[in-house]
Amino acid sequence: MIDKEELKRNQKFFESLRKNSPQLILSPELKEEWNKFLDIFSEHKMKNLRAEDYVLDKNNSDASFCYWMEVRLNMLGNMHGSFALKFGLYLSKETREYIHTKKFGRTKEEAFNKIKQSLIDLLSMGKINDLDKIKENSLSPMFKGKILFLYYPNKFINILSNKHLNYFLNELEIPYSEDLNEVDKRAILVNFKNNDPIMKYWTNQQFSSFLYKFYRPPKNLPELDINEKEQEEISHKTREMSKEDKITYLTSMQSMEEIVELRGKSYKRDNIAIQFIKSLRGYKCQLCGVTITKKNGEFYAEASHITAKHKKGSERPDNILILCPNHHKEFDWGNKQIIKRTSEEIIFKLNNKEYKVNLKLK
Ligand SMILES: [Zn+2]
Repeated sequence: MIDKEELKRNQKFFESLRKNSPQLILSPELKEEWNKFLDIFSEHKMKNLRAEDYVLDKNNSDASFCYWMEVRLNMLGNMHGSFALKFGLYLSKETREYIHTKKFGRTKEEAFNKIKQSLIDLLSMGKINDLDKIKENSLSPMFKGKILFLYYPNKFINILSNKHLNYFLNELEIPYSEDLNEVDKRAILVNFKNNDPIMKYWTNQQFSSFLYKFYRPPKNLPELDINEKEQEEISHKTREMSKEDKITYLTSMQSMEEIVELRGKSYKRDNIAIQFIKSLRGYKCQLCGVTITKKNGEFYAEASHITAKHKKGSERPDNILILCPNHHKEFDWGNKQIIKRTSEEIIFKLNNKEYKVNLKLK
């Protein structure tokens, strides 16, 4: 948490920097680049945008919309780290072919037209601050954040990553929920700045520079991976499902389909199975009995395949062990010898310690 007295001291320091050397917060060269971008890609020119003006093509163009977004204006909001598909359409470095996300259409043309329309819509929604429509817009969250900031820097802030948004909101002790859309989290931060007696005079770009200068988020913030997130959602959706129903669901899930429907939404079959097993095992490590409680009151546990997935190990209850993070790593990396294995129990030695684990579901 950010100490309130320290925050005030840092604000004071930043305030003098802002008044005396604003070029250290936004360099004139960068400001010029920004203006150039807004001129080349001004709102009224967007309808004439062609795919080749848009795509990230690391081999030859340093002038496309996406190149500006990701590289030339990187100092105004970092978009690196997520995959090139965040733009919906890009040119493959190796094959020189266009690759597009299927959600935008079946063909490259269809996809590009949809992306262009989404861009145009986003700009008009940004202008009138229609946050709900902005949330619905199908461009990727970081990309939307960066576009909105570049075109409307007085309304939107250039903190693009969801992890960073959570980090700053936590540090500043601003009430929020992690489930909120990034669009809302940014609005909360801007609102916080605008209600501060000193920071209300700062631009959003100055505010984000301030946060990154004094309170830079640590690298590699822990975050649930994509499968763990999906499992969490499944757990919310199946909260009232009885143990018996979960067991029935698990044992009748014989379909080899990878994606299955659950309460009106599609999920990876593996994630449903793993989530149900975690829940049926009470999120307790099957080796040491430890349960980890998260700050939201839910539980955290990991799942390990006894026969590895790449060796065709399935997500059946007799092939999954629910483990704490320490035992998960030890199980994966330690010296293990299986002594006896049936569908009901497994006995093994792990780094010379013997374990007997019941695999039955009650
Ligand atoms: Zn354990």
